[in-house]
Amino acid sequence: MIRLSDIRIKISRITPDNEKEVLKREILGRLKIKEEDLLSFSISKKSVDARKKADICLVYSLDAEVANEEHVLKKTGGRDVFPTPAVIRPDLRFGSEKLRHRPVVTGMGPAGIFAALILAQNGYRPIVLERGEDVDSRVMKINDFWDHGKLDPESNVQFGEGGAGTFSDGKLTTLINDPRCEQVLREFVSAGAPQEILYKNKPHIGTDLLRSVVKNLRQSIISHGGEVRFRSRVTDFITRDGEITALEINGEEILECNVVILAIGHSARDTFEILYKRGIEMIPKPFSIGVRIEHPQEVIDRAQYGSEAGNPMLGAADYKLAYHSKSGRSAYTFCMCPGGYVVAAASEKGHVVTNGMSEYKRDGVNANSALLVGVSPEDYPGHHPLAGVEFQRNWERLAFQLGGSDYRAPVQLIGDFLNDRISTGIGS
Ligand SMILES: Cc1cc2nc3c(=O)[nH]c(=O)nc-3n(C[C@H](O)[C@H](O)[C@H](O)COP(=O)(O)OP(=O)(O)OC[C@H]3O[C@@H](n4cnc5c(N)ncnc54)[C@H](O)[C@@H]3O)c2cc1C
Repeated sequence: MIRLSDIRIKISRITPDNEKEVLKREILGRLKIKEEDLLSFSISKKSVDARKKADICLVYSLDAEVANEEHVLKKTGGRDVFPTPAVIRPDLRFGSEKLRHRPVVTGMGPAGIFAALILAQNGYRPIVLERGEDVDSRVMKINDFWDHGKLDPESNVQFGEGGAGTFSDGKLTTLINDPRCEQVLREFVSAGAPQEILYKNKPHIGTDLLRSVVKNLRQSIISHGGEVRFRSRVTDFITRDGEITALEINGEEILECNVVILAIGHSARDTFEILYKRGIEMIPKPFSIGVRIEHPQEVIDRAQYGSEAGNPMLGAADYKLAYHSKSGRSAYTFCMCPGGYVVAAASEKGHVVTNGMSEYKRDGVNANSALLVGVSPEDYPGHHPLAGVEFQRNWERLAFQLGGSDYRAPVQLIGDFLNDRISTGIGS
């Protein structure tokens, strides 16, 4: 297989209908081969270069299977034409001791799902304990919350099958270069995610597709010998001589175990408190806090793509902004959701938390993004390791009161915010 990199195609030359043909012509031209010698090809990377609005390009890396590969490489090989690098498989190491009990994975967000999947695929028959519900029941609970303000503290936007990101944009960017990232993407594709996530520079799945992907991942865990238990909250950790011996589930059942993977995410404040009481060492950490800012998607498209705004090859545009103040505090945008929605995402009664969510097509009229500022332990009330949680709760309670105490978020127009005015209506 031959990799051809840095293939830049002007946006005006390419459409969803002619993309394959245009790429084929590029390969034939670069490798100087006849059409019949190109056996197959696939996209390995695709990104948008919109730095110059008058010259927006799609940039591809392609993998081509050709007749007489060695000869073709000898003739045309170089910086941008070379043998396709071998896929690096993550290095899995196995223990030598026989486990007394099946390993337990607590939490079925992305971390728990992939821990359980890899354990199951390798014959460890994990038991997954998830406090929330399966994704279908969860969707009903969340719709009830969004429509009628009825919050189930155990099954909501934070808790339940798929974890905190199921009702999200499903962005899959990590900004790290680790062979495990590719394995995760491949598993997503096997579970029904679109093939393009394997090559797009900024892959995303969308909440609509994610829900079935998550279900398929669960089926895969089960078909490999794993077990998934919903509505099963770990309520205590039982230890002997500093080693875990059992978990208490829902305050009533005891599950003996000696290997537990805690994949409980960022929101299980009650579980953090139990862990603290059980003597697990903890330190407060910095995090970011802020608001969601929302604007018409077409404004962002025009700002990023100029006259090419709306071109189907570009899709809905995104952005990323950062500001470093002299005080040392930084403000930045995060988790931008093109064509998405701002959603209520609380998991505790009497608190308001917002987040962003998009569907696969990202075709909503608005875009939104988190607008955040970094906070650190010096900002928290006191020195307790969980003081940051109290800090979060204070702001979430205030937001709840300001929004009318029914889980609607307080809203203000940016112009009014900058002019210190209360808004009397909201935009479109
Ligand atoms: C609305 C929203 C949108 C987001 N969008 C994106 C995005 O587009 N891209 C992105 O990369 N990130 C996104 N994030 C962040 C992302 O979801 C988290 O970083 C990610 O979910 C963390 O994964 P996790 O598995 O560690 O934890 P979580 O996803 O939080 O999963 C933890 C799971 O553990 C369960 N649990 C907790 N305590 C217990 C217990 N005691 N017993 C049993 N089960 C328990 C919870 O119910 C939960 O299902 C978004 C988050 C939200 C809320």
